[in-house]
Amino acid sequence: MGSSGHKVLKAWPVPTEVSLAFEGRPAPGLKPGRAVSGGELLAVSHDPLTGDLRAPFSARVIELTPNRIDLRFGPGLSGQVPEPLELEKLEGEGLAQALKSLGVDQIEKPPEGEPIIISALNPEPGLELTRALWLDQKPTLERGLKLLNRLWPKSEIIEVLPPKFTALGPKPPTHYKEPFPLTLPSFLRFKILGLKYPRAMGVVSPQTLWAMGTIARSGLPLTLIPTTVHGYHYLAPPGLKLLNALNAVNLKPLTGDLVLLGGLVTGRPAARLERGLKASDLALSLIRSKSLPPPPRPCRLCALCRLACPLNLPIDSIAQVHPGQWPNLQKAAQKALRGCGGCGACALACPSRRPLLLLAKVAGAGDPYGRDRIEPRAPGA
Ligand code: SF4
Ligand code: SF4
Repeated sequence: MGSSGHKVLKAWPVPTEVSLAFEGRPAPGLKPGRAVSGGELLAVSHDPLTGDLRAPFSARVIELTPNRIDLRFGPGLSGQVPEPLELEKLEGEGLAQALKSLGVDQIEKPPEGEPIIISALNPEPGLELTRALWLDQKPTLERGLKLLNRLWPKSEIIEVLPPKFTALGPKPPTHYKEPFPLTLPSFLRFKILGLKYPRAMGVVSPQTLWAMGTIARSGLPLTLIPTTVHGYHYLAPPGLKLLNALNAVNLKPLTGDLVLLGGLVTGRPAARLERGLKASDLALSLIRSKSLPPPPRPCRLCALCRLACPLNLPIDSIAQVHPGQWPNLQKAAQKALRGCGGCGACALACPSRRPLLLLAKVAGAGDPYGRDRIEPRAPGA
């Protein structure tokens, strides 16, 4: 425990193997059997907001598929050693490109004249990583803030923090007491700036700031991600296999258990335990089958879901439909859930345990964490 009662961040020991997912173009000459150095470029991402893929440690490529690179740790191996970039000379688009090439996932640029919000509010109950980062890694976050100032120099930066947290920069922070789900980026943007849902653009998490601050010091690629494994916070190599990560904290998933990427409310089920962790996963949690909610019952037309929704969206109008019919529902759902922040308050309120958050995500109306696809299994679905 830290002095203020939080679980401190620990360094994860180098694992034997990692599995790195990517969408993009593998680096030229990469093939199974080849040695790579820590930080070496493995793949260039097609998505301008996703950092390029870098090797988290010196290793040998054991498998290369169109969307995955598996690496095995190998002492004494040496591929191309990355050269540090001189980030202090860059700003604007040049800096954005350099951050991407060093493996930092970015946020969407705020529209001209709109401020940037740095939020240290935990994105949902039980996910405390932002708090641990704020309390344990302040110098790194402060370096990240300086870089952020040079990335979009025209945008004002507003820090939104829980009560008693101190600001990174010279300006006094906005202290915010609202409970979940109003702490989610898309809702926060509305509450603080009065700007529309569902976009969370211009809201920066401490994870992103930490990644910026880490490379600001060295100019070298990012090879660690802040992550939470079943409530314990780590700086871990990306690609850490879900099963190995759970085993390392003495958890063995059994048949029927649910492994979630993210927290208990906004998390989504992991389809494969051989898959590696990504920065956008936020957390990894295991729920034993005996603690899973009972299977869903038919909709009672009680409208508690609509009442729980911070936007009063008419999710009850589509919640009665069987999950098997959801693909046919997409248009109606998109219309009904326009502006949805993906917070899960509707699902928590439902006495029939209808998997409403999954419905909201299937509708594609809003997923604050963006790019991940919906996995086929849901709690009680
Ligand atoms: S529909 Fe559900 S997930 Fe979407 S904003 Fe409303 S309560 Fe949150
Ligand atoms: S809260 Fe559940 S049971 Fe009530 S209307 Fe919504 S989906 Fe149906």
